[in-house]
Amino acid sequence: MSDAPPRRCPICDKPAPAREVNRFLPFCSARCKDIDLARWFDGAYVISRPLFGEAPPLEATDDEDPS
Ligand SMILES: [Zn+2]
Repeated sequence: MSDAPPRRCPICDKPAPAREVNRFLPFCSARCKDIDLARWFDGAYVISRPLFGEAPPLEATDDEDPS
């Protein structure tokens, strides 16, 4: 009477094995965990500015003078 409800991997949507045999929860496998991590990094790069370096260089607009 202690059956936990099956969890679905957020990456591949397959049922993830129980915690006792799956240390990658909530993912079903190391592969899916890596995929999620890669997505997270992609999003982080999009959302935030790089932590290193200075402000992005302003591009010269001299050649776009609408006069
Ligand atoms: Zn998966």
